[in-house]
Amino acid sequence: MPIYQVALPLPKRQLFDYLYEHTGLQPGCRVRVPFGPRELIGIIITTTEDSPFLNKLKPITQVIDQQPVIDKTLLSLCNWLAGYYHHPIGEVMHTVLPVALRKGESDKPKPIQVLSLIEGNQTVIPEQLNRAKKQRELYIELLERAIPVSSLKQTYTDTVIKGLVEKRIAKIESVDEQNEATEFTLPEAIEKPQPNVEQALAITAITQSLAKYRCFLLEGITGSGKTEVYLQSIEEVLKNHQQVLILVPEIGLTPQTVKRFEKRFEIEVGILHSNLTDNERLAVWQKSRSGKLGIIIGTRSSIFTPMARPGMIIVDEEHDASYKQQDGLKYSARDLAVIRAKEHKIPLILGSATPSLESLNNALTGRYQLLQLHQRAGNAQQAKQSVLDITNQPLTAGLAAGMLTRVEQHLKAGNQVMLFVNRRGFAPALLCHQCGHVEECRRCNKPYTVHKSLHKMQCHHCGAAKPLPKQCRECGHHELITQGVGTEQLTMYLEQEFPQYSAVRIDSDSVRGKAKLDNLLTEINGGAHQILIGTQILSKGHHFPNVTLVVILDADGALFSADFRASEHLAQLITQLSGRAGRAEKPGEMWLQTHQPGHPLLQDLIHNGYGHFARFALSERKLANLPPFSFHALFRTESLKAQDGFEFLSHVSQMLQHPQVHLVGPIPAIMEKRQGKYRMQLLVQSQSRGLINKVIGHFAAEIEALPMARKIRWSIDIDPQDFM
Ligand code: ADP
Ligand code: ZN
Repeated sequence: MPIYQVALPLPKRQLFDYLYEHTGLQPGCRVRVPFGPRELIGIIITTTEDSPFLNKLKPITQVIDQQPVIDKTLLSLCNWLAGYYHHPIGEVMHTVLPVALRKGESDKPKPIQVLSLIEGNQTVIPEQLNRAKKQRELYIELLERAIPVSSLKQTYTDTVIKGLVEKRIAKIESVDEQNEATEFTLPEAIEKPQPNVEQALAITAITQSLAKYRCFLLEGITGSGKTEVYLQSIEEVLKNHQQVLILVPEIGLTPQTVKRFEKRFEIEVGILHSNLTDNERLAVWQKSRSGKLGIIIGTRSSIFTPMARPGMIIVDEEHDASYKQQDGLKYSARDLAVIRAKEHKIPLILGSATPSLESLNNALTGRYQLLQLHQRAGNAQQAKQSVLDITNQPLTAGLAAGMLTRVEQHLKAGNQVMLFVNRRGFAPALLCHQCGHVEECRRCNKPYTVHKSLHKMQCHHCGAAKPLPKQCRECGHHELITQGVGTEQLTMYLEQEFPQYSAVRIDSDSVRGKAKLDNLLTEINGGAHQILIGTQILSKGHHFPNVTLVVILDADGALFSADFRASEHLAQLITQLSGRAGRAEKPGEMWLQTHQPGHPLLQDLIHNGYGHFARFALSERKLANLPPFSFHALFRTESLKAQDGFEFLSHVSQMLQHPQVHLVGPIPAIMEKRQGKYRMQLLVQSQSRGLINKVIGHFAAEIEALPMARKIRWSIDIDPQDFM
């Protein structure tokens, strides 16, 4: 009987041998196989003549696919991933496939629930909707086209959808998209603005190299018309009847973004967001694979979407941290985009107002082609940036008195203001006024964050929550005070100072689920709120045309961080936040409160802009021999006993000894303990990326076989982005 080698979703760097009565099973097909007491879904990789376990081999239980679900290109991508990230091939394939396929379901998607109007093109809005604002909005959207129920759930609640159905205005139907969809066709005429000179140069550069690999770094300040450059480049690709894959950051995938692409080309855009059902995700996957979709837009994992006729890949906000997967297969979707574009021989555009130092270095050394946009499109001006020295100044809820006056001025002028604090909750610590004892999470050794409205304190590292204590655990004293400021506290303060204006908090506590965020954004741009208080979420590319003042309360922590990337991230954050102000006709200003007004980093950033800062930061990295001028890999462990992780990493360190490899550790991680587990790490550093790969690759199986490897949790992170 023929023997097949199968990849299984297990943390093992090997293939498994199984028997099957027929020859001819193709690589990339799924099979069901017995594994111990369980049954697993695996992927056929190859056949073999001989097996060391010949008389113990078990037969394949079921062959699921006749045609490979992992085609040749995807297979070679999987092999690259397994080799570069030193990850077990079976787990790689598992990660790459849509969940429905991982579970062994048919690769033909089931019909999809779609909401459509009962009476086609009635442009007169039914009277029944006069007092139902949301239903009315939905009705207007449905006039354009029928919409899958799951994508509606990004913007509308179930009640709104049900409302239209109960009023017999709309109906939900099952549509078998596989039969229905045909290949996309572009409209006769595509309306678009005249590009300015820099845009035109960028568009020409890109569209002149459509049939070959080339990576472009589009460095353009916020609002400079990067998206317009994407749009006009995409147009040429679609005209050639090829497909475009667009990656956007986790939080950037809003209906507004998608609509911009739909509206320009009047074709269906395949969307891969986290609210999709497994079946819907599979449907988009298949429609892209068959070439029916011209544009596919999605977050990190969409980089695995197969395309019949790939023509271009775009990574928007390429510096965004969400492109790096932090657990399991720790891949960077941006770096993978480079690999895919090379493989397909197509252009890749990386766009950002604040490019990562890695990409910038590639552009400055000529590996990528640098395209720059220096001016804001249309009439909008860049916000004026300043620092406010807060040394020795009294602060209320983190805000200096002068700043409060400024906020008031902008509000009185009828504008919106935006305030950034990097902590959610009321305050990041609770301490005893008598003895100074700080309430800490015992599993993480970190202070609890106080959430006043919820009457509890919560650990932001493990999520554990407790009621607020009435007295100190150490000395019994009753006066407990909070330290530091979070979004909740600032919101309460501003509500009290400016009761005539509406304040709204935008952080992961207040924005649960995409629908909520999208609605909030709509409310804000509709003028329902004047004071916006939030965390990082505020910096992520949303347009707030009426915001004229941006205040950053305190970002000094990052100036003294143990992470060498902290200053890069701080500069990106400040620049992105500042880019939110004054986007429309109104000029804006950005104020940064700091105890370090003279800090060279801040001075450089404020006076010379991100581009200058980043080039200087690169020269510093070069002197310090840090990435991108050297390469990193990080071994991490988590164990109940700190000693176990240390021992394991010491073994690894002995194995990896090499004259051109520099090893740091084992040392405790910056976050030494989390959820009761001790965290250690070993940093592997070298001038040669190839050498790191070779050394780790050589020992990966041996490391996996260390007795300690089964007692602890361990992982390899290639090109780690943080050392937490
Ligand atoms: P970015 O992606 O760099 O933030 P956008 O592409 O969103 O910038 O452009 C900002 C605004 O300027 C948008 O409203 C866009 O429609 C407009 N815009 C872009 N390019 C032009 C142009 N050449 N002429 C007129 N308006 C433009
Ligand atoms: Zn904790």
